[in-house]
Amino acid sequence: MLITNATLLTLDPENRILEDQALYLENGKIAAIGPEKALQAWYPEAETLDARGQYVMPGNVCAHTHFYGAFARGMAIPGPAPKDFPEILQKLWWPLDKALDPDAIRLSAQIMLADAIRNGTTSLIDHHASPNAIAGSLDVIAEAVHQSGLRAVLCYEVTDRDGPERTRAGIEENVRFIEQISTSAKQQSAISNSPNPPITPSPSVGAGQSPNPKISATFGLHASLTLSDATLDACRNAARTLSDSVEGRGTGFHIHVAEHEADEYDSLEKSGLRVVDRLHKHGLLGPRTILAHCVHVDAAEIALIAETDAWVTHQPRSNMNNGVGVTPVESLLRAGVRVCLGTDGFPHSMWEETRFAYMLQKLHHRDPRRMPGNQLFDMLVGNNPALAGSFFPDAPLGILAEGAHADLIFVDYHPHTPFTPGNLPWHMIFGFHESMVTTTICGGQVLMQDRKLLTLDETAIAAEARELAPKVWERYEKYITKQ
Ligand SMILES: [Zn+2]
Repeated sequence: MLITNATLLTLDPENRILEDQALYLENGKIAAIGPEKALQAWYPEAETLDARGQYVMPGNVCAHTHFYGAFARGMAIPGPAPKDFPEILQKLWWPLDKALDPDAIRLSAQIMLADAIRNGTTSLIDHHASPNAIAGSLDVIAEAVHQSGLRAVLCYEVTDRDGPERTRAGIEENVRFIEQISTSAKQQSAISNSPNPPITPSPSVGAGQSPNPKISATFGLHASLTLSDATLDACRNAARTLSDSVEGRGTGFHIHVAEHEADEYDSLEKSGLRVVDRLHKHGLLGPRTILAHCVHVDAAEIALIAETDAWVTHQPRSNMNNGVGVTPVESLLRAGVRVCLGTDGFPHSMWEETRFAYMLQKLHHRDPRRMPGNQLFDMLVGNNPALAGSFFPDAPLGILAEGAHADLIFVDYHPHTPFTPGNLPWHMIFGFHESMVTTTICGGQVLMQDRKLLTLDETAIAAEARELAPKVWERYEKYITKQ
């Protein structure tokens, strides 16, 4: 496909804004970039998509989300409102995740994926829980991801909160799914290395059929406060058996860390160690591990995260909504930690998340000099794609360059002041809105064109979800009374 009449935001190290350009997409990658006339001459037969002068840029990345949370919208929590984050877990999320069956898991994922396409977020790192439907739950989500055409990294959150049988089931679901993805990746590379590779690699679900190169996996754990030492070791040992998995790079872990101070106090009581030290002792940190939140980590924990090269994700909207505190983003960055931005199940509007991060740090420190826009820009367009890209290493992610993954969005933005690579971060923070995203493309596949979704039927999905929601809420109420 040839995209014509585009103004490119390359977001590569040269960070250029290029007018009157065209992009040629082939086999899920950007095959050529150049002046429109030249590319039209090279690819006269190509199907054409006219960008009508809009900005064409890499799709956004969400580094931490929960596809399972869609049925929380508008749901009443019985009794007095939760007074803190531990009560929010007990009264909202834990009974709600127990109420999910495979249909609810699928619909919740479809709702979230449609939202991501609309918001121009093309890669997402999900963290899933459904204690009454563990085995195969990641296949249900993978099927929804496959249908949507988006790129996603999936895992199941292991926890001890529902008894040893479900702890084991959670570990097995991670192991099973990671092995499946690994097998798929090997098949995929066999296809692309064969002397006669198919023109278009056949996509598929991660359900053991032919490989979908846009789905990957990691090993999920809930949080230190619901995990015993024995379970932490069991997860590490299970992951070690997979050390040759996922393209031989070993697997990391995806876990919530110190979202509320209760996590730190629980860890100190259980082990005498703070959360990050405890995870390190059990061999869970490393350059492929994702630590979500890190609101209450101390200076030594920050140093240990930096030393082990683990990733941190920051979710300011969720933190504000739960009243848990403010992540020390600048301290983490100063220590050399790679901090990314996630949504934690909020709408997948990454510019909005970035704007909240920008405002929150300034208000918290009562100093408008804190959390400069260019640092947040580097997190959103540098760290986020670097993390997601590490799961899809066959091509660069998050830049417009020949050979990069063809994950693109068209943005109908009309700046009323000079718009340059130098002031791009502030145009993005103050000027860009997700409603300006008109077209979303992932791996060369057009998922939304001129605001019309092409892979998911939003109206039908919402209607089905509205019909199912009362049943999910009924089950939720049953479980909340049992808490
Ligand atoms: Zn989360």
